[in-house]
Amino acid sequence: MANQDPQPEIYTTRHEFDASAAIVPAGTTVTVSIYTNQANNEEVRLYAVAVRITDEDFATATTDTDFALTIQCGPNNVPSNQFDIAWLANTIANGGETLAFPSPILVLFQQPLSLIVESKSAIATVADKKRWVIVDLIGELAIQKVSCRGCGFVHPRNSRCPDCAGRPQ
Ligand SMILES: [Zn+2]
Repeated sequence: MANQDPQPEIYTTRHEFDASAAIVPAGTTVTVSIYTNQANNEEVRLYAVAVRITDEDFATATTDTDFALTIQCGPNNVPSNQFDIAWLANTIANGGETLAFPSPILVLFQQPLSLIVESKSAIATVADKKRWVIVDLIGELAIQKVSCRGCGFVHPRNSRCPDCAGRPQ
């Protein structure tokens, strides 16, 4: 539920790739779901993504960072394609910016939101060796708005128009 409208939200997921006992083959995927807990008249808009890739001690990793991200929103991937995140993690580790989407990813009520991280290269086995891919999605939770059919006034969905008392829509 939004405490203000809109309200900033950051959703963080951690994807574990454990090479301590066995090789992590190329193509291994780790999926983590995000629960946005939005009400039925609220939508989430995601504007940017940040990525960190760390070792087992959560120190920035400089090797074995060949990962790609897919954002699954409802039944679709948005953006449509998986994208490389090694460069983004490296940029951010060196003081650079997050990756801003040209338009927000919209997450509607009860739409599942899942992040799938894929290791594009094999990670060789070394005792205790892990890679953590930590993804932050930066967005906002907002109450959905509609334009009144009668007078055009923009008001929250599922409520009467406060301007002309037109029917809810
Ligand atoms: Zn109206």
